[in-house]
Amino acid sequence: MRKVLVLEDEDSIRSFVVLNLQRAGYQTVEAASGEDALELMKQNPDIRLTLLDVMLPGIDGFEVCRRIRASGKKVGIIMLTARSQEMDKVTGLMTGADDYVTKPFSPAELTARVDALYRRIGDGTDTTPPRSGELSSPPFRLNTRNRTLEKNGQRIKLTQVEYTVMKLLMENPGKALSREEILEAVWGRDYYGEVKIVDVNIRRLRLKVEDDPTTPTYITTVWGYGYKWEA
Ligand code: CA
Repeated sequence: MRKVLVLEDEDSIRSFVVLNLQRAGYQTVEAASGEDALELMKQNPDIRLTLLDVMLPGIDGFEVCRRIRASGKKVGIIMLTARSQEMDKVTGLMTGADDYVTKPFSPAELTARVDALYRRIGDGTDTTPPRSGELSSPPFRLNTRNRTLEKNGQRIKLTQVEYTVMKLLMENPGKALSREEILEAVWGRDYYGEVKIVDVNIRRLRLKVEDDPTTPTYITTVWGYGYKWEA
């Protein structure tokens, strides 16, 4: 899941950016103010890259950049700067931005920069995912290339749906996921069935991954809400 946060107060520019990122295969989270952006970052720990406009009504893009960096999260940051604001580049890079794109930009230029930064985040220095294409949460290891799960090095056979649920859980360690959230992420927004399908799959997954499925310690229940992956 390649999730990008787009912070831009001008609706038309934000829609343009979002549309083009979605066409390029990215999932987007939108914010119209710096305050909203920081809140959304907290709610979506899987955001790996952000596009930050500089001129905003409340706190500006540089301040957002500074606070993201202060949080210590490994997130790529691209500043969106106006042509007239040559100084923005310098200030932006000093506050910790990885790159900047000058407005007006073409869809091709934007997605090329986002793709490039994504590639950079993915290699070498980044320790968040242990290896690209792999999610690790000992004793589990999820290979996202060939969609397989191992526990203590032993392959666990999963259905495609179970795999997708497992991936969602492992991507959100320690986070309570509501049943509706899981339903939407795995079955899609157009799914007309009942949310009970989530419980059915969780029960099956527990039989496969838990040491003792009657007292789950990896996939725990958040009563009246949903489920949580215990890292
Ligand atoms: Ca603006």
